[in-house]
Amino acid sequence: MRDRRTTIFSVLLAATLAAAVAPAPAYAEPAGVTAQVEPNQVQNLTAVQGDGYATLAWTPVEGSTDYQIERTPIAADGSATGAAVITGVWRPNRQINNESPTFADSGFNPGDRFQWRVRARFGTTAQPYSEAISGTTTAPWGDPNVPGENLRTQWETTLAAQYTSDVNEYAYTAAVDELSDRVRVEEIGRTVLGRPINMFVIGYPTPPATPEAVAKTSPLLINCNVHGNEPGDREGCLIMARKLAFSTDARTIDLLSHTTVLIVPTINGDGRAANTRGNSTGQDLNRDYSLIRQPENAAFVRMLRDYHPVASYDGHEFGNSNAGDLPMLPPRHQNVAQSIFDESQHMIEGHMYSQGAKDGWWPCPYGCTGGGSVGLSEETILRNTAGLKNVVNSLLELRSSGGPTRPDEGNTANNRRRKTFSAMWTFNQFLDYHRANLTAITTARAEAIKFQVSNTGRIVFRGSRPIEAYPAPHPGDAPPPVDAPQSNLILDNAPCAYKLTEEQYNGARTDGPAGLRTTVAERIAAHGWQVVKTADGYVVPLNQPERGLIPLLLDGLGVENLVAGERVYPTATGKHNGQLVVSGFTCLKDATVNGPVRVQPGATLIATGSSFTGPVEANGAAGVFLTDSKVTGPVRITGASGPVVVADATVTGPVEVSNNRGGAPLLAGNTVTGPLSCGGNTAAPVNLELANSVTGPKSGQCARL
Ligand SMILES: [Zn+2]
Repeated sequence: MRDRRTTIFSVLLAATLAAAVAPAPAYAEPAGVTAQVEPNQVQNLTAVQGDGYATLAWTPVEGSTDYQIERTPIAADGSATGAAVITGVWRPNRQINNESPTFADSGFNPGDRFQWRVRARFGTTAQPYSEAISGTTTAPWGDPNVPGENLRTQWETTLAAQYTSDVNEYAYTAAVDELSDRVRVEEIGRTVLGRPINMFVIGYPTPPATPEAVAKTSPLLINCNVHGNEPGDREGCLIMARKLAFSTDARTIDLLSHTTVLIVPTINGDGRAANTRGNSTGQDLNRDYSLIRQPENAAFVRMLRDYHPVASYDGHEFGNSNAGDLPMLPPRHQNVAQSIFDESQHMIEGHMYSQGAKDGWWPCPYGCTGGGSVGLSEETILRNTAGLKNVVNSLLELRSSGGPTRPDEGNTANNRRRKTFSAMWTFNQFLDYHRANLTAITTARAEAIKFQVSNTGRIVFRGSRPIEAYPAPHPGDAPPPVDAPQSNLILDNAPCAYKLTEEQYNGARTDGPAGLRTTVAERIAAHGWQVVKTADGYVVPLNQPERGLIPLLLDGLGVENLVAGERVYPTATGKHNGQLVVSGFTCLKDATVNGPVRVQPGATLIATGSSFTGPVEANGAAGVFLTDSKVTGPVRITGASGPVVVADATVTGPVEVSNNRGGAPLLAGNTVTGPLSCGGNTAAPVNLELANSVTGPKSGQCARL
């Protein structure tokens, strides 16, 4: 909560300063204007044009309780072409600072010209309007005469009367792909009805060629539309993709030179086409990201596994007219690493709240006023699933109706435009946040992975971290429900691993659309978890980067689990003197071994929080997991038939990982005093972009780890 403290301090400081300044009029009138000012008239009104909105700002009027924003369409000569309408109501809970009120007026057709006035109210008593100001709003991005830039979505060409159809989306997407070197459109999967699920992969001057290469750029991800009847964010994504693809402005080039932007416009194409929340089977896809029963979710989770986005946003709409413009929420599930929760909150409260106050948008904690039982800890929700996959992220909800603060949105097109352009504002802020805070994001991710592979702390099956109320004047009146875990959904003594039977692992399942059903083995592979094949089953160790998610799917206490796997507890703790020969299955937890460790062919060693004096040698093992541990002496893992994981280990001595045949060994976040050499592994070792600190030479397949 580092920023909470800073913000409280800022508020206190502001209050202290305000108290020290002479009372009303607190705001000096500019010379030469004084004579015309009426009592309580708003002064110094300005308008700054953004993409699809205009930020109005003014000097506060002492004693006002709210402000009304009036907009009038005008011609080039300034004459009115339509009626003046109250389009906005500014209230004190809208922004974290009330000294500089701002309002993002939106809903108009971009490019049109308007006049604005603002007046204060004392209760229901309106005060005099400000002097009028006028301006031409920013036209849709892209020169109509430049190929590529001149692409427009169906939503744009119909002036928000129609949403972009699937057919139009695919045509637009293909055109952006074809005309921009910066864009590659990947089909990451298909819906139940066979619609492509596309992803824009955007980089400068060109996007990296493979998912592995993209992962090295610490990419960020926007999931635009999972609920088919919440289409506002998707339109913002499509417009934004065009600008990223073709704009030559310095910010765009800078952003795309430093990372890769991943945009999935429509994961639920069938639901979008039918304007339904769920997919064609009626399944709410935002309740399936952990279980991945549906092909849409499986495609998305495989993409997360392969592209490793470090941060993400997930777009929705929210039917609570009393909420802020932009309810947001971090991953709250208590199995999410603290560092991921903190950094996600920092992105929301530390960045979005303050930028919202500058630009006039109103982010608030999801739920906001009277939001009900929303924003909880289901790991099936992408916000939580992504957090459990160590992705800094937030939910984004667009308040679906205008509500009392945007009273002109009975006009459908105006309502749609406000939602879409507020989403675009958020996603652009997200890009800027990622650009400015990448070190903090990747540090949070590294800390999270190290925490998870240590397999320490209790397991919570359902239950959230609290979201504290933000200090007044806060954006939103109330945080979401506490959602504390129930005692019967907490496992204090975490197992070492889960063991699954052949039937549990490879057996046919009925949870999923007919013809597209998948086994637990396939779903575990989609998540990217390592599994050891033993003589009598399949062992999924918990000391893996997604440790917080594994029990939710494989433990009998999981509220929405796949199977009730057998909990396998550590076989040894404490001190062991002399040689340790591992045959069969050994799980060491907080153990100290004074002597050499030899893992026999076909055996499995899992070790966390342990220390070893003497060489650790495994030849032909079924699996080796060495995490959060210290080894004084050489480590040599060769010829394993199953997974090899060495993460957050400190080794004083050489490390050799060679000729292993069980998939790519994971070597991440280790400190090696000595050489690191790898060769002959069927798949080259990977590090999840968590570098190893190696004092000796790194060679062979490990040369760049
Ligand atoms: Zn939704």
